[in-house]
Amino acid sequence: MHEIGLVEEVIEIVRQRTGDAPIRRVVLEVGALAAVLPDAMRFAFEVCREGTPLAGAILDLVETPGLARCRACGAEVRLDRPFGRCTCGNADLDWMSGEELRIREVEVG
Ligand SMILES: [Zn+2]
Repeated sequence: MHEIGLVEEVIEIVRQRTGDAPIRRVVLEVGALAAVLPDAMRFAFEVCREGTPLAGAILDLVETPGLARCRACGAEVRLDRPFGRCTCGNADLDWMSGEELRIREVEVG
């Protein structure tokens, strides 16, 4: 389950920003193409937050849509899963966004 590693990274980044201040809430943007399972993310967070300033924190996941460009006709294609097809029928897509995992907001307190 690679979500554990991702969550550990998120906790590390939050601690670098806020030190030992207790955290109330973390809002995490998860791209639809990031191959991250929200339930696994929440579970990993519950395990990893123990003994850290995030022990009492809520994890909010915001899913952001994936966006790709068709390599055949250049059209933009919205994706909600890591595969898809352009309206022109081509499946050779260049992913532009949706793979990111980004901390949008950290609430201290
Ligand atoms: Zn196309």
